[in-house]
Parts: sequence; C-alpha cells; structure tokens
Amino acid sequence: MSSNKGTAMGGGGEEREHRSPRMSERVSASGSTSQSCIFCRIAKKELPSEFVHEDEQCVAFRDVNPQAPVHWLIVPKRHVERLHDLTEADRPLLGHLVLTARLMAERAGVAESGYRLVVNNGDDGGQTVPHLHLHLLGGRAMRWPPG
Ligand code: AMP
Repeated sequence: MSSNKGTAMGGGGEEREHRSPRMSERVSASGSTSQSCIFCRIAKKELPSEFVHEDEQCVAFRDVNPQAPVHWLIVPKRHVERLHDLTEADRPLLGHLVLTARLMAERAGVAESGYRLVVNNGDDGGQTVPHLHLHLLGGRAMRWPPG
C-alpha cells in the first residue's frame, strides 16, 4: 500500500483557494465518458495506481494530493459522474461504497480515532473529478465548518 502515482487533477485557482478548475469547466456533464475519465482509467489499471482495496464494485487508492495523514478515495468501477446521478436502483452500490469506506477506516487505523467521509457533488460542492468518489479523511482532527 503506497502512494498513488497517477496524475493530479487538484491544484490552486483563482476562484477557489484549493480547487480548480470547476468541474463544469473541465469536462461537461454529458461529455464525460469512461474512456476519458481518469478514475475509470485508474480502476481499469490503464493508469498507474496502487490500490488499497479492490472488489467487484469498487477500488480504493490514496489521494494524490492528501489533505490529511489518511486520505483515501473509494471509487465505484462503474462510471457514475456524481452522487446526484444515483437512483433508487443504486442503493446497494451506495451501501457498498460506504461500508467499504468503513472497512478502509479500519485498515488505515483511524476507526477509533475518528474520520470523515466526504462526497463533493458538482461545482459548488467542490467536485473536480467527474466520477463519484468518497473521500476518507483521518489521522488528524477535522475542522467544522469545512472550507
Ligand atoms: P473532488 O474534488 O471531490 O472531485 O476530489 C478529487 C480528488 O481526486 C482530489 O482530492 C484529487 O487530489 C484526487 N485525484 C485527482 N487525480 C488523482 C489521481 N490520479 N490519483 C489519486 N487521486 C487523484
């Protein structure tokens, strides 16, 4: 289990201190495909990454730009652009992702100290990669409200 070696897509920007560009500026909602999607390509092992977890439905790997000592991403293999695209039929997938995050918290050693699960949805949610993912953040005390 070591750092992800893929290409970072986060970074500084004008409107946002720590995120740019906005999701809608980089990849249109309708234009995002599994062929062009960085997380699809990581999940399909077309881009280098070291998974901390893989099963039939999802993968987990370290965030390339960690915001906490533990910052792992739980990513469905199926291309779903954002949380808000999920439907009633996706209850099992969503449950699986959350329970996988729980398992990852155990694996990362933060289950007892505490952790935060984050899903950024759309531009104002701060989403920069248009493929649904859960952030597992831990290893330090989180602040509230978030930035
Ligand atoms: P979000 O802003 O919620 O869409 O989160 C996207 C996250 O993906 C950011 O925290 C990025 O640092 C992270 N990220 C982007 N590209 C990669 C990559 N190739 N490998 C690992 N993490 C990545």
